[in-house]
Amino acid sequence: MDISFVDLIQQFRRLEPTLRRRFDEVFAHGQYIMGPEVFELERELADFVSVTHVIGCASGTDALLMPLMAHDVGPGDAIFTTPFTFIATTEVVALLGATPVFVDIDPRTFNVDPVSLTQAVDRVRDSGKLRPRGIIPVDLFGIPADYDAIEVIADQHQLFVLEDAAQSFGARYKGHRTGSLGDMAATSFFPAKPLGAYGDGGAIFTNDDDLAEKLHSIRVHGQSNDRYNNTRVGLNARLDTLQAAVVLTKMTVFEEELDARQRVAAHYSERLRDVVQVPHVPAEIVSSWAQYSILSDHRDAVRSVLAAAGIPTAIYYPIPLHLQAAFSYLGHQVGDFPICEEISSKIISLPMHPYLAEKQIDRICSGVITAVQPQHDN
Ligand SMILES: *Cc1c(COP(=O)(O)O)cnc(C)c1O
Repeated sequence: MDISFVDLIQQFRRLEPTLRRRFDEVFAHGQYIMGPEVFELERELADFVSVTHVIGCASGTDALLMPLMAHDVGPGDAIFTTPFTFIATTEVVALLGATPVFVDIDPRTFNVDPVSLTQAVDRVRDSGKLRPRGIIPVDLFGIPADYDAIEVIADQHQLFVLEDAAQSFGARYKGHRTGSLGDMAATSFFPAKPLGAYGDGGAIFTNDDDLAEKLHSIRVHGQSNDRYNNTRVGLNARLDTLQAAVVLTKMTVFEEELDARQRVAAHYSERLRDVVQVPHVPAEIVSSWAQYSILSDHRDAVRSVLAAAGIPTAIYYPIPLHLQAAFSYLGHQVGDFPICEEISSKIISLPMHPYLAEKQIDRICSGVITAVQPQHDN
């Protein structure tokens, strides 16, 4: 009984007939770039999230980069975000020559702490060196950030909010789907994300008509309505037709899979609640459970006991972004974001996918319990 961290094989077997039919349709019409499936998916995602515009693109990273380009983010601009995320969140800021300004996280949700955020915005504003432009909250592991609190800060300082929903697609915040929580949002269809393609892909969500028009242009080399009339510098950031066909197929079972993830998470929490710190999902939030991550002072023991039993685990993220060599030019040091650093030293993610069987979850939990029992302290 093999346990995978993310199981794309079982899901493929389940969806195989529909996937093959969808692929055959693409092979028959031959429109591999911007074929009808791309537009069909954009409409379906817009309905799912309840926003007016969805712009499919080549990756979650492009989905973060393009809205920043549309807002002309560049040198001298400060973009506030968390140091406890995948590097793509801040890499796009740096690529445009703007400055990522890190903010410490909430010790229970691991998302941007609104109090630290206010302090950081005030500090940047008072120092007068950088212009505060926007906030990129990340919905880490599938749990949406505290958007009501973030919105107040954004309004007060006229900052845009770009939701990084790469891990949270399908989650809800006070009834609203992720993707609709900021002025614009980015998600990723990287295969291991809750809604994954069979390669790279992503999408941007917004209700802003002007922004959507700019994003359509940026997606294809900054073109205007006339193909060889380029009004700005853009990218080749299209979502390809075959990936759109995959995501459309996965949408047919997505809600069911989200329910299955809830069941897996509930089962984990019930068994592990008394031995480790289990995920904290605030009231009025439904997680998409991209990851099920626990905190333990005995992380190495948990990893080795589980590895010996053939159970894969992962650490997201072992090095906070402010301590990454790529961002050494920002001049941060150990101790700058103590909560983030502490969490990153204790966190460990367990296998999480909709096809985990009860017995498998029990086996994983037994391994964790064995590993954290007092004898391992000796
Ligand atoms: C995966 C991820 C991205 C980037 O998505 P890609 O599709 O891999 O480019 C960005 N932000 C977060 C938080 C992610 O987890």
